[in-house]
Amino acid sequence: MEYRLQDKQISYLASVMRINDSKLPAILRIQSKVLKTMTDILLEKDFQWVLPVMLAKSTDPLWPDPGYSIEERIEVEVYGTKVKTMQSMIVHKRVLVSLGPEKIFILSPNIRIESRKRMTTGKHLYEFTQLDLESAYAKMRDIFQLFEELVTKSIEVVKKEMRRELEILSRDLRVPNTPFRVYKRSELEKEYGDNWEEEISKTSEDPVWVTDIPREFYDYQDFETGEWRNYDLILPEGYGEVLSGAEREYEYEKLLKKITRDGLRKEDYRIILDLAEKKLLKPSAGAGIGVERFIRYICGLKHVGEVQPFPRIPGIVPDL
Ligand code: AMP
Ligand code: MG
Repeated sequence: MEYRLQDKQISYLASVMRINDSKLPAILRIQSKVLKTMTDILLEKDFQWVLPVMLAKSTDPLWPDPGYSIEERIEVEVYGTKVKTMQSMIVHKRVLVSLGPEKIFILSPNIRIESRKRMTTGKHLYEFTQLDLESAYAKMRDIFQLFEELVTKSIEVVKKEMRRELEILSRDLRVPNTPFRVYKRSELEKEYGDNWEEEISKTSEDPVWVTDIPREFYDYQDFETGEWRNYDLILPEGYGEVLSGAEREYEYEKLLKKITRDGLRKEDYRIILDLAEKKLLKPSAGAGIGVERFIRYICGLKHVGEVQPFPRIPGIVPDL
């Protein structure tokens, strides 16, 4: 597939790709501080820090999701068996919190070969990292509270302790008020149409939660009302989505029905189906926040690739 860039886009991307950018040290100092703040809070709350898995037979289908735009899925053969690169650790998180420990987080690298049309959206990368967490028996509101604390504390600490870095980046950052407002996707669609994410992001002063978004099988859906108990966190100033999460499905019949409904292969999700059938799959809730997107917002950057020393911008394969 051919995708031609305009001159304006080329010079813009050249500035994003500059490895010797004088802003990079400030950005990385802020990222270090934010990661320390968030991981310290989680460890204090008795979440266990799990190291990531990168190759697996089973990964997030990323389908059906309204934001879906994958150009190719990477499959390689190891020891004669086909494995995929990790698109998200949702399957592994669900299994792990069911077996124990019940509260976990991972700094999880994800590989998603996004459409090259997303080169200049400012928010897409083909390799990025989620701070991904899951908590057995937690509900939507517990995860809201937890991330409100992670987000506001990170911003507070950066504002207080990293004035010099914010100055270098000319970033005037505001500490949000909590709790964040909660909207239903249908209300926003009614008001703003299909472009709701961009509109609510441009018009709100603080981050907002959006719930009830039809998407992948593992998010909980009330079959009586049709309502999905899932959520996105949308950042202000036009930065858009930074987190997705949900309460999860745990019942065998529902999981099977939704996997079939979505046209997925049952074999790919055999372990969670087996656990669910034996009633060993615990209900849980969780979310993953995109680290680069969150840092982009804190630093007030144009493109999420500016957060990465070695940017992974859709359509561009650099030497390093
Ligand atoms: P998801 O569950 O697919 O929404 O992914 C969780 C979070 O990871 C999103 O809310 C984003 O912050 C981040 N994320 C997802 N896809 C990308 C991407 N292509 N580039 C950068 N960050 C991403
Ligand atoms: Mg999402």
